[in-house]
Order: sequence, then structure tokens, then C-alpha cells
Amino acid sequence: MKKIAISACLLGEKCRYDATDNYDAALLKKLEGVERIPFCPEDHAFGSPRPTMDLIQTQLGIKAISNLTGDDLSTPVEQYARDFFDEHADIDLFIGKDRSPSCGVCSAKLYDQEKNLISDKETGLMAKEAKIRGIRSLDAEDFVSTLR
Ligand code: SF4
Repeated sequence: MKKIAISACLLGEKCRYDATDNYDAALLKKLEGVERIPFCPEDHAFGSPRPTMDLIQTQLGIKAISNLTGDDLSTPVEQYARDFFDEHADIDLFIGKDRSPSCGVCSAKLYDQEKNLISDKETGLMAKEAKIRGIRSLDAEDFVSTLR
């Protein structure tokens, strides 16, 4: 393992929707000596703090919809993801914060337009781009458990 893309909030950056972090000491200990490239599409696009968003199944596909305004916020997240992986084309592993609508690899919640839960195993918009590019991708909680 040489170069890892990782959700910035796991490294302690206060970039969550409520301007806190998801600092994970156990995970970071496993990554000692590995080059880590942090990312946060939502902070980049919307700043912190910011309103939350959820993945919604629409007629146009799965979209990230603001819980405050109902606006479709997908485009800036998807554009950030494309730009990030274009810039860092040699990423060996993607570690995303589990359950995030942007970063979750197989743990994000997906709702229908009436807000009924369809799945809790969906892929967030940034993690989806990693998968499209063939990058090995893991939720943070799964990465930690694989190393126990
Ligand atoms: S889960 Fe992803 S989008 Fe959310 S704060 Fe962490 S890095 Fe940013």
C-alpha cells in the first residue's frame, strides 16, 4: 500500500456538516508510514458547517438532495471527485467515512422521494467515482476491521 485517499474528517479535520471531525486514532495508527491524501467534497463545495443532505432515488438516478432546501447538490460533489482523481491518478486505496452520502463505500443510506429507506448499503457520490476508476475502496470501519 503506497498512496491512500482518505476522508479528511477521519484525520481530524473539522469538515463535517456540524464543523466537527471523525478523528479515528486506531485507523491512523494503521496508516503510519503511508502517504495519505485527504479529501472532503462537501467542505470544498459548501463549507462547514452546512445543511445535511441525503441520497435520494429520483427519476434521474441517485442524487444528493439538501435536507434544508430540497435542492440537488450532486454536481459539485461529483465534479470535485472527478477533479480529485484526475489530479491523483496513482491512488492505491480509497478509504471513505462509512455512512456518508459522499464518502461511504457500501454503507450510505438511500431513500425514496417520500424519505422511505430503500437501502443502507449504497455508495456515496465520491466513493462511486473511485469505484468507477477501479480503485480499491473500503469504508473506514471495514478497513480497521480487516487489519485486526
Ligand atoms: S464524510 Fe466525507 S464529505 Fe463528510 S465530512 Fe468526512 S470527508 Fe467530508
